[in-house]
Amino acid sequence: MPAFSNSVPSDEKHMAFELIRTPQDRPLVAVVTSEDLIGCYTHFWGHRTVPCEQPDCPACIAGMPFRWHAYLTALESKTRRHFLFECTANAAKEFEIYREANGTLRGCLFNALRPKRGRNSKVEITTKPADLTRIVLPEPPNIVKALCTIWQIPSTAVEEGSGHNGTPTPVVNSDVTSKVKEHEPNQPSQNRKPKDQTS
Ligand SMILES: [Zn+2]
Repeated sequence: MPAFSNSVPSDEKHMAFELIRTPQDRPLVAVVTSEDLIGCYTHFWGHRTVPCEQPDCPACIAGMPFRWHAYLTALESKTRRHFLFECTANAAKEFEIYREANGTLRGCLFNALRPKRGRNSKVEITTKPADLTRIVLPEPPNIVKALCTIWQIPSTAVEEGSGHNGTPTPVVNSDVTSKVKEHEPNQPSQNRKPKDQTS
């Protein structure tokens, strides 16, 4: 259902966030603005990435492979662009380590790079605390709502959870690796496995 409003949004830039993956030809250097990452299983289905909608997921029923992706919001240091960052479970482990050490991801300066420069080659992420005396971080958007806008699904279709700042949380990434292993959808084929977690 469309969300109509009589009030004019104060900052239109926040209405649709750009979803960015690690480029193949250059490092992406940015500071995380969200408190945490959030993740869910996705399919490449109908020429685009869509969330897995278990238990009645058309892509699962069609036997499409799935993979887990993490999402967070970040401010690119060079361009000041505030965007949604997507990475695989493998790459997201570095963020998990940082979060365990620092209690939050907000303020995490990261460098994401594809050393082999392939479009879907493995992403290496390094993290360190940003110097927050030198940058003012914008408030993060609601990641789930931003994703729903990109995926063109109503955010009311997403299960409410207990994420930071009341963020609806379909799947909170508490342990990336085990969650990936746990995902066993109603699969007609015994041979379905998540695709390799390299991009
Ligand atoms: Zn699915």
